[in-house]
Amino acid sequence: MPFEFGGGWIEVVAGPMFSGKSEELIRRVTRAMIARQRVQVFKPAIDDRYDAVAIASHAGRTLHAEALRDVATVRARIEPATQVVAVDEAQFFDAALVPLVQELAEGGRRVIVAGLDMDFRGEPFGPMPALLAEAEVVEKLSAICRCGKAATRTQRLIAGSPAHEDDPVILVGAAESYEPRCRACHVVLRGVRTTPLFAAQERG
Ligand SMILES: [Zn+2]
Repeated sequence: MPFEFGGGWIEVVAGPMFSGKSEELIRRVTRAMIARQRVQVFKPAIDDRYDAVAIASHAGRTLHAEALRDVATVRARIEPATQVVAVDEAQFFDAALVPLVQELAEGGRRVIVAGLDMDFRGEPFGPMPALLAEAEVVEKLSAICRCGKAATRTQRLIAGSPAHEDDPVILVGAAESYEPRCRACHVVLRGVRTTPLFAAQERG
């Protein structure tokens, strides 16, 4: 254990897409399990179903996790004997994740949170900024930009072009992709659109 604090504590693993956050979360959780600690792993569910899923790293390692739709459900699923709580893709949970994580740490648990620190616009993402401020330990990971430098941001591309800040989060019928980029290579179109919005609609 590289760090040991009095009572519980919060660790945040943050960075852009493709920076190995899930890999790092899996590594920390695996070590805790080898040390015979009781661990529970959560991630946000896309829909309302309760689901047992695997968190997979790009390197192919997997970890059992529960996919849950909201923070209240996460809270209800935590077992009294659990010593380590890990949350992947934490940016997709709402602000209620922050008091839950605080409460878990104050109750003597180790909490490991992984997630995107910024959205595709380069703006703080969901509960992540508050968790980064609160954490005892922060690890910011980077990926590799197409220019070869360290990538700290996530570039959103729609049909190969940088997304506009107003582009809907869910696009129907347009090919979108994400790339890790450095600050210099990260592009967000702002203001008046010079290109037409794809025949894209926000899904209700
Ligand atoms: Zn770059």
